[in-house]
Order: sequence, then C-alpha cells, then structure tokens
Amino acid sequence: EQQKLKRLKTSPSTTLDGIEVELLANIDMPQDVHEAMEEKAAGIGLFRSEFLFLNRADLPSEEEQFEAYRHVVEATKGRPVVIRTLDVGADKSLAWLPQASVNPALGLRAIRLCLSEPQLFLTQLRAILRASHYGRARILIPMLASLAELDQALALIEQAKDSLRQDGHLFDEAIPVGGMIEIPAAALAAEWFAKKLDFLSIGTNDLIQYTLAIDRTDDAVAHLYDPLHPGVIQLIRHTLAVGRRLKKSVSVCGEMAGDPKLTRLLLGLGLRSFSMHPAHLLSVKQQVLRSHVGELTPQATKLLKAGDPLRIQALLERLNG
Ligand code: PEP
Ligand code: MG
Repeated sequence: EQQKLKRLKTSPSTTLDGIEVELLANIDMPQDVHEAMEEKAAGIGLFRSEFLFLNRADLPSEEEQFEAYRHVVEATKGRPVVIRTLDVGADKSLAWLPQASVNPALGLRAIRLCLSEPQLFLTQLRAILRASHYGRARILIPMLASLAELDQALALIEQAKDSLRQDGHLFDEAIPVGGMIEIPAAALAAEWFAKKLDFLSIGTNDLIQYTLAIDRTDDAVAHLYDPLHPGVIQLIRHTLAVGRRLKKSVSVCGEMAGDPKLTRLLLGLGLRSFSMHPAHLLSVKQQVLRSHVGELTPQATKLLKAGDPLRIQALLERLNG
C-alpha cells in the first residue's frame, strides 16, 4: 500500500473529470519545508510562525525571523508560501506574555494579541515582507472575528511596507494577504472579509471548537468534537460559496483537509485547495484521483440536508464508496 501511494508522488492531482486540486503542506518549523517538498506539495498552505516564538525566554528578532521565512520561501522554489502571523494564546503560550487570559481560547490571542502589541506585529510583518523579495510569500491573519480587526491589521501591513521603503528594503509590493476563517461569526460574515482580502483559509480545528463549544484540548469532551456536525458543514459550505462568488481562493488548512475520509465530501462542497501535514498528502491525492466532482456535488448536497448523525455517516460512506 505504501509503495502504491509512493507512485502517486509525481502524478498531477486532478480529478477524473479534469478538475485540478491544489494540495499544499502545513509546516511548523522552517526545516519542515524539506519534508513538504519531498512529498511534492504544491506549496506551503500554512506556516505556523508561532513555533519560532515558543519555548524561549526572548523574542525572535526581525533578522532571525527574516532568515527563517526566507529559508522557507527559497526552499519552495517559486511555489506559494502562506506565512501565518503569530497565533499564540490558548493552547500555545509564551513565556514573556504579560499574563494568561481568564479563558485562553476566548482571550487575547492571535491577531488580538498582535493588535495590542503593534511593535511585535510590525517586526514580524517587516520580516515576512523582506522575505517576499526572495519568492512567493503570502500573509495570513489568524483568528479574525471583526472587520475592525482586519482594517487595523491591513493598516499595519501598510505601515510595515512604508517603513521598509524608507529603509530601502525590497519586497513584493503586491504580496497577497489572506485571513483565517476559524470563528463562526467570521464564516457567516465571510463575504465582507473576502472583499478586503486576496484569499481565505478555513481553520477547521478552531472553527469546530468555537461552533460546537468544545475545547479542542479537553479530553473529557473529545468524543463530542464532530467535523460532520451540520452546523460546521454549513459554515464551510457558506465560506466556499462566498469564495466562488467573489472569485477569491479559499483553502482548508485544519485537520479535516488531511483526512482522506473527508476529501470527497470537501470536493463535493466545492473545495479545490487543501493544506495538511505532509504525511497525508499522498493518501488525500489518492482520493482526488479516484473522484468525479460532477458526481460528488449532488451527494454532498444530500449530506448537507441530513441532520441525523447516523444518516450523515451513511451518506459519507456512500460518498466514499
Ligand atoms: C485551525 O484552527 O484549523 C488551524 C489550522 O490552526 P491551528 O490548528 O494552528 O489553530
Ligand atoms: Mg486555529
């Protein structure tokens, strides 16, 4: 089976009815890019930059971050690299953070923290922008809830660009900026986010957590964590529909994207860009290669209309059969 999968490495990821599907890799550390390239990822769909900040007493400097981002951008040889800005708080905490939130999952985390510490954010943005001169970098903003946050983040990106121009640094003036859809309100309001952004990326790990009110780190409720809950599927479907209508690319970068049992459902819902741990790329590609999207779409619609968990499971099995 492993041998069979390996043979798929070099084949293009196209469905039986000729639809191209982009299969990207998620990475945590800069050196993970090499595994992603070995597995023939079409690019990096999520570089979790916070790993540069964890397990240390100080902050990484602009120079250190620049070197890390440049390493990834160069190693991908012209493929896109989506660099997510600092997403800490909640499950990933930092030694130097002033104090833990009362409820870390709902507190001052990710973009909220960055907007409250603009110097920290500007340093990172400058490093990402400088790396964009060496390849195809993209900026991804995590945990967006409100449009006001997005406006502030976009203004800080402009400020970082201005400061680089003044310092004579080169960068990609047209660097694409995207936002993560991982809070239910953002999914419902995807249209307004999409209008101000170049692309969206659905973070299903947090989207499920916040939609179902299930702490993703709490074993006591892990059995209730359900990617197939109709509420979750509706939010994904809606976000994908908005992307199609506004011609903005939408990817999924949560664990759902790397689960081969969900590949055909996501294809049927309209997903064309998946980002996952590199170890899952080939088994997801195997599903893409045996899929006919024209047939999956009505089946996915049927699943969307079902509410009963057993019926949903049965429909999923039929879809995968
Ligand atoms: C997600 O929430 O789905 C996601 C991709 O981000 P993280 O798992 O790093 O929170
Ligand atoms: Mg997340």
